[in-house]
Amino acid sequence: MNENVSKVLIGLESNNINAVYAETKAEVCEIVKNMLSYGAVITAGGSMSLKESGVWDIINSPEYDFRDRTKSGISDEERLEAFKSAIGCDFFFCSTNALTEKGELVNVDGNANRISSIAFGPKKVVMVVGINKIVKDIDEGLLRIKKIAAPKNAVRLNTGTPCQKLGHCIALEKSDCPAMTDGCKSPRRMCIEYLVSGFQKEKGRINVILCGETLGY
Ligand code: SF4
Repeated sequence: MNENVSKVLIGLESNNINAVYAETKAEVCEIVKNMLSYGAVITAGGSMSLKESGVWDIINSPEYDFRDRTKSGISDEERLEAFKSAIGCDFFFCSTNALTEKGELVNVDGNANRISSIAFGPKKVVMVVGINKIVKDIDEGLLRIKKIAAPKNAVRLNTGTPCQKLGHCIALEKSDCPAMTDGCKSPRRMCIEYLVSGFQKEKGRINVILCGETLGY
């Protein structure tokens, strides 16, 4: 474990966020299996990190009650019910857009379902975070969203937002250091609601599994 990772883990713990380091994706999966009990009610935010790490397959197993809003053929009504079931569910799984050296979690959302569940509702939040998500501070985290996370998601989801073609947020065409909410006016804009999670009153509600491998974007 390098010095930077140690600093991040200490920062998270000082913010009352449980932090554990897993060298590999396989270790991440073992940690997740040990956290879950049979029949646990689980919800999740859309996350490439969950899929690439293998965690999505674990939570999607018949051992748990996974309310998957992304499953194929789901009706609008069922999707709404899945969203609602995040309130009071046992576990909410997701990743983070950026993780600062001080142990802050920086996230942006288009629909706010992910950031609202991080902030309130689920009993436990479990974040699977690749080492590639570590940034120096909140400003670098916001830039990371504009330069990496949003453009890659735009390509994956074919949003038609300017960042899909440019490979970076349109706000970077005007300034190297745009303000947090600068960006496009696209109807499919992904960067709408912003959340920075620092010190938590409830110790251990948010749990970060930091993986030594690259995961998601
Ligand atoms: S504000 Fe618009 S252009 Fe900028 S990253 Fe977000 S979706 Fe892309």
